[in-house]
Amino acid sequence: MDYGIKIWSKNYFKIKDGKVIINHGKKPAIVDIVKDVRSEGYKGPLLIRFPHLIKNQIDTLFESFEKSMKEYSYNGKFNGVFPLKVNQFPNFVIPLTEISQGYNYGLEAGSKPELIIAMSYTNLGSPIIVNGFKDKEMITLGFIAAQMGHDITITIEGINELETILEVAKEMGSPYPNIGLRIRLHSSGIGIWAKSGGINSKFGLTSAELVEAMTMLKQADMLENFKMIHFHIGSQISEISPMKKALREAGNIYAELYKMGATNLNSVDLGGGLAVEYSQHKGIYEKNYTLEEFTSDVVYLLKMIAQNKKVPEPDIYIEAGRFIAASHAIVVAPVLELFSQEYDQKELNLKEKNPPLIDELYELYKIMNENNAIEFLHDSLDHMESLLTLFDLGYIDLIDRSNTEILVHLIIKKAVDLLRNKDLTDIINIQNMIQERYLLNFSIFQSLPDYWGLGQNFPVMPLEKLDEKPTRSASLWDITCDSDGEISFDTQKPLFLHDVNLIEEDYFLCFFLVGAYQETMGMQHNLFTHPTELTVDFDEEGNYEIKNIIEAQNILDILDDMDYDIKDVERRLKQKIEESKKINDDMRSYILGKLYVFLSENCYLKTIAGCKND
Ligand SMILES: *Cc1c(COP(=O)(O)O)cnc(C)c1O
Repeated sequence: MDYGIKIWSKNYFKIKDGKVIINHGKKPAIVDIVKDVRSEGYKGPLLIRFPHLIKNQIDTLFESFEKSMKEYSYNGKFNGVFPLKVNQFPNFVIPLTEISQGYNYGLEAGSKPELIIAMSYTNLGSPIIVNGFKDKEMITLGFIAAQMGHDITITIEGINELETILEVAKEMGSPYPNIGLRIRLHSSGIGIWAKSGGINSKFGLTSAELVEAMTMLKQADMLENFKMIHFHIGSQISEISPMKKALREAGNIYAELYKMGATNLNSVDLGGGLAVEYSQHKGIYEKNYTLEEFTSDVVYLLKMIAQNKKVPEPDIYIEAGRFIAASHAIVVAPVLELFSQEYDQKELNLKEKNPPLIDELYELYKIMNENNAIEFLHDSLDHMESLLTLFDLGYIDLIDRSNTEILVHLIIKKAVDLLRNKDLTDIINIQNMIQERYLLNFSIFQSLPDYWGLGQNFPVMPLEKLDEKPTRSASLWDITCDSDGEISFDTQKPLFLHDVNLIEEDYFLCFFLVGAYQETMGMQHNLFTHPTELTVDFDEEGNYEIKNIIEAQNILDILDDMDYDIKDVERRLKQKIEESKKINDDMRSYILGKLYVFLSENCYLKTIAGCKND
């Protein structure tokens, strides 16, 4: 089983000798890197960044647009900006700006702190684009950026923002930032993130407002600063047709405004939305187009419109965020427990005289073989139902009930084992009932918020044992105390994992394509914070190097972030230990010492009863 790696990994990751390897440099196995890091004491979940994948995505994007422009002899230039809201973490942004130096690649900001990041880290000469709602202070920051020498465009979302720009221009003087107008399209996006486009969208100027903006710019003698029109129809655009529709609309608006006298207008900014294939199952895809198709359509359409309306072909800007960032990060979660691992034969507590159904279960377990496994499995599940009802009615006791659970789980395990080499379709109808629950040392709310909030799937697979057939239909449970912290077994998109004995070996699951949005939107539900992160870089010889390790926050820092006075927390704990009459004096300093160690450690789990570590 390859967990659909060919569908989602773009060959960035491959399977070799049963392990997932990074298809770069000397092609190390991820699990070896994980074990390396853990041996240095970093336990719990890990977020691992691969800057070479940021570079690959930027290269791919630029190459594809440049190829399409060549093919159609397009006269405009291609530029890109990375929208910071997708990932603002320094160990992502700083490598991105270093890697992209050879390109006209900059940053997009939608808030004041993002703008400050852009002003600090954008390579001079590369574009900065400012979107979103702005006050006078934010617009003034844009002017300051222009005066620093940045190529900055402020795209306005409403007429009032233009008024403020004209006001600030008088106060600050030149050089002015470029002005962009965000247009309100009548076409809208598609899918769960579609709300950014359409007549009722939150953003952009209507046609009447565009005309008004032109008049205002002319009157203020600032029409020459109007350079760009901008639109954004939403994220993860699953089909190409809404993008084409939006482009036709935007292209014609560009041409019309140019003809109305905006002769410095030279750019169309497509916003983001370029989709990522997250699917790991054949036949269930998240997008219906390739990058080549996308770039070819964009270039061709804009060329046709420019030709028809006899205006110059505009420079093309894109704000693809998800496309650039998603693949660069993975989350590795150690499995802490298999739910049924406690159901061991030695836990059975059979009596001299058992209820007949239990004797029957025991018999089924003993004589089960490959040929009768499915039938016996069905029988045992029926028996369990009956026995649980008998318990509710008071006819059998807790020992009987415990024997029932243990026997049924033993039967499931034996059946799965017997059927291991048969086609999995043999047990397809009962997968749901015989699923194994895997408890993972991570938080879905922190590390996969879009799964919790939007049902977005992320490819997941074990990092090793890939040369062994996985036999257990699996659901995944995180360590939050929230029943939503679960990725349940889905017969449409089944996940099969290995039956592992965690006392003898570690088992790591890895979620891929988590580099876009998940980190910044992750929430501290139950106070589980951003996991320990690290960067894997490759040198010229192809050897990897681990850099920028940032351990998950320790407990006192977490409370500090919540605005607890941590000195007060420490004082209270200490006082209670010192004054407690339940602690004998020899123990007092020992207990205090232990407590201080715990306070300096991170929130994820270290050990769990019955498991080797974590
Ligand atoms: C969110 C956003 C983007 C990025 O969208 P992706 O789907 O991540 O490519 C680009 N531009 C604007 C204006 C946005 O709001």
